Amino acid sequence: MVPEIIKSGDDAGNKMVVKYTYPDGVVIHGIGVPQAWDSPLGPTWCYVVEGEHLTLVDTGSNGTVQHLEEGLQYVGYPLSSVDRIVVTHGHLDHDGNCFDVVSRSGAELWAHEIWGKFLGVGRRDEENDWRQRYMDFPPSRDPEWEQRIQNHQELSQKLTLTNPVTDGTVSEDFTFYYTPGHSPDELCILHERLLFSGDHILPLITPHPSVSMSYQIFRSLMPEEYQNENRYYGLKTFITSLKRVAHLGEDITVMPAHRAYFRGKFNPIGLDRALVIADHHRSRCHDLIGLVRKETMDLSEVTRKLFSHLKLDDQLFRMAFTEVISHVELLEEMGDITLVGDQARTVQWSGTENFADFFEAD
Ligand SMILES: [Zn+2]
Repeated sequence: MVPEIIKSGDDAGNKMVVKYTYPDGVVIHGIGVPQAWDSPLGPTWCYVVEGEHLTLVDTGSNGTVQHLEEGLQYVGYPLSSVDRIVVTHGHLDHDGNCFDVVSRSGAELWAHEIWGKFLGVGRRDEENDWRQRYMDFPPSRDPEWEQRIQNHQELSQKLTLTNPVTDGTVSEDFTFYYTPGHSPDELCILHERLLFSGDHILPLITPHPSVSMSYQIFRSLMPEEYQNENRYYGLKTFITSLKRVAHLGEDITVMPAHRAYFRGKFNPIGLDRALVIADHHRSRCHDLIGLVRKETMDLSEVTRKLFSHLKLDDQLFRMAFTEVISHVELLEEMGDITLVGDQARTVQWSGTENFADFFEAD
């Protein structure tokens, strides 16, 4: 099966439209909707699924609807003909154009029920709270970025989740799997032998895990049955969701939201990619233990050493630090390390490597 480029784009796939034809006759189109800002990530791949209804999986960043519209026209549809939008998760590069599409098409909105509860909630501001606990420097205040987030929040407040989804929801040819970890509302959606994976499984890059601490911040906003214990945030949650998806079945093709095409090449992946991502995190945990087994080490130092191959500017450091926190949380929960010292910012090894069993278990 060779994907056919029906509208060319750049090297990363921005503004590209791709036609995927599968052996069983299923045809899917992917639209590479560019980010609204300069980004090394490449576009968000939004997928068009034809059938009884015209379905759009993800919508791209807010402020880019003209690119989505143009792509749809290449597939043969005006924006107004979208019947339903399926949102993989509530990050603004995925649900950013929902308001524009809904207001011009009247499309139904399908997303996890947590997504509906979080509409218009400032997820990033809240997240800065826990960061302050561990970091001395202030949160980044890029005015353009702030504006984009605020705009997204305001538009989201006007939306209603018409079709809330939970794990196992089936509608026509779609089966929804709840796969939290990158985001607490992440869905993977199976259609025939295709799995729309959002940011849960990506080729070339490893999705960022969320951090468990966020659960305390967002718990009270979640639907009641989600308020008892954290199974929605953090690396442990993410790994559990990766393992689950890896065993969904044979011969399933993954349709990721990023990097489907990059540097002039398609990057086809199957479900085994989920285990490669899980293994990446296992070896990160291993490296972290390796660093602290001889001497205790401050969290910032751990970050700089683990990412010593990168030149960490402020923004990259923040991202790397966040990832380290998610690893530290998992290792702490497994009993392998403890946080000690002033403000509990120093990592001390407990003498065990229980994390290895967790990663190995099915
Ligand atoms: Zn995301």
